[in-house]
Amino acid sequence: MDFQLSFEQQMILDYGSNLAESFGSDYWREKSDAQEFPMELWKQIADDGFLGVMVSEEYGGAGLGMTEMALLMEGMSGAGLPLFMMVVGPTMVLSLLDHYGSETLKKAHLPAGCSGEKVFCFAITEPNAGSNSMAITTLAKTDGLGFKLSGQKTFITGADAADYALVVARTTPLKDAAHKTDGFTLFMVDLKAPGVTIQPMEIPVMIPEKQCEIFFDNVELGPEQVVGEVDRGFAILFDVLNPERIVVAAMAVGLGRYALKKGVEYAGDRKVFGVPIGSHQGLAHPLAHAHTEIEMAALMTYKAAANFDQGAPAGAEANMAKYFAAEAAIKAVDSSLQVNGGAGFTRDVGLLDLYGLVRLLRTIPVSRELLLNYIGEKVMGLPRSY
Ligand SMILES: Cc1cc2nc3c(=O)[nH]c(=O)nc-3n(C[C@H](O)[C@H](O)[C@H](O)COP(=O)(O)OP(=O)(O)OC[C@H]3O[C@@H](n4cnc5c(N)ncnc54)[C@H](O)[C@@H]3O)c2cc1C
Repeated sequence: MDFQLSFEQQMILDYGSNLAESFGSDYWREKSDAQEFPMELWKQIADDGFLGVMVSEEYGGAGLGMTEMALLMEGMSGAGLPLFMMVVGPTMVLSLLDHYGSETLKKAHLPAGCSGEKVFCFAITEPNAGSNSMAITTLAKTDGLGFKLSGQKTFITGADAADYALVVARTTPLKDAAHKTDGFTLFMVDLKAPGVTIQPMEIPVMIPEKQCEIFFDNVELGPEQVVGEVDRGFAILFDVLNPERIVVAAMAVGLGRYALKKGVEYAGDRKVFGVPIGSHQGLAHPLAHAHTEIEMAALMTYKAAANFDQGAPAGAEANMAKYFAAEAAIKAVDSSLQVNGGAGFTRDVGLLDLYGLVRLLRTIPVSRELLLNYIGEKVMGLPRSY
């Protein structure tokens, strides 16, 4: 067991925080206020070779793994730039494609994804199927040659800025499937194709990406757009959902550290009643508590990432990491907000904005309750309640 980062891993963590610092919080706020995709930042990450962290070198990537992607996210978020598009595109879609895509799909998309020329989003959630993905009804009907896709997805991060979506659809409706996990197929869908409509939603969280609804009306798909196997998509779904949980846990760890830094600095500087407020244990202990929990969350995140990279089961760790990191980040922001007094609520300090963001991480990409259900049922063997 080795708790040290390698030289290369430390460099990636540092790269993430240096990059975020070089763009700065004003850039982030401007883009978030304007709800404008941060293309300059995206291009910079691409030029520096980091969009393809998890993509094989032969397709233009760095040939690294989940651990390195998590460190990149931890570094960026730790300096205030939690870029969700890095979760959905490079962590989920590109890495899944690298593992399970056909040669044609890989050649068509991976080099362009790594260079930033093409942007990818991920679409599973539907108005009537969020936590319960089994209930999705978006259907790709086949005529034996190709497919026609119809249905609706919602809350899709960055769909307006993306060129393609990896869409989770049913090729066999739930009522006709022998088992509820049968009949899922993953498709790479061109978002400019006839029959696709994208509608931005209003979600006032301080992130630059828009969340969107996507409507599919008889969108024609060729068999070459299938990622993995028809009707057997569920088997590979967790190779995209576990990385999502791991990298979001890393995001929460970074955001927790970022918030605590603001709390600790203020606690040392601000004097009320003649002493720095940080000398009062009523303020210091919540910060120390949150710091401890953030570092514990980081360890579980690394373990989940290492398991995933080694091809070992990563579900338990990924779920525990995401659950605990989100809770720790909420406490970190809340304790820092309290230390900052009224100043914490100003836009300049930005802790209130940060609160909305970490609070979101309790709910997405999978909610606290569903994570605890998984841990109780699948990890501990408790009976299923639903
Ligand atoms: C900003 C944002 C970005 C997003 N980005 C994407 C994206 O890019 N792609 C994508 O596909 N989706 C995305 N989502 C969707 C997100 O993954 C879902 O919102 C999430 O999975 C929860 O689903 P839901 O909103 O339908 O909640 P529901 O499933 O309706 O759940 C509502 C509440 O009930 C609780 N609940 C439900 N069942 C149980 C149970 N059995 N036991 C206990 N509690 C239960 C849940 O925990 C939750 O608190 C995004 C959402 C947001 C808000």
